[in-house]
Amino acid sequence: MEDKNFLKESRKRLLASKKKLVKQIEELAAQDPSKGPDKITEFSEEADAVEEHERLHDETRLLENHLEEIQAAMSKIEKTPAKYGICENCGEQIDRARLEAYPHARYCLNCEKKLGTQG
Ligand SMILES: [Zn+2]
Repeated sequence: MEDKNFLKESRKRLLASKKKLVKQIEELAAQDPSKGPDKITEFSEEADAVEEHERLHDETRLLENHLEEIQAAMSKIEKTPAKYGICENCGEQIDRARLEAYPHARYCLNCEKKLGTQG
């Protein structure tokens, strides 16, 4: 992709998403009862705490996966800008509107459907 402005805009979008995700991950970590300062004594509370811990853990993993995709897209813009916006599966140009909505997209819409991934 030759469009430097578009790359710059995409990078900005990715950076904004990254900041937001990092903050969300920090907030989730702060909510985790197993990491909190309060000591849990009651058994029932402990069970709730474990459940809550697992829910937060799953949520954190989703956010971390998303963060990795964003970081991969950012390093692509920095290291191999010509490859940014090119579908990793078929090599076609990814629709620009799609990249504006999902700046971390690695596949074009067709391949995304075929591969059945999200993003
Ligand atoms: Zn494709």
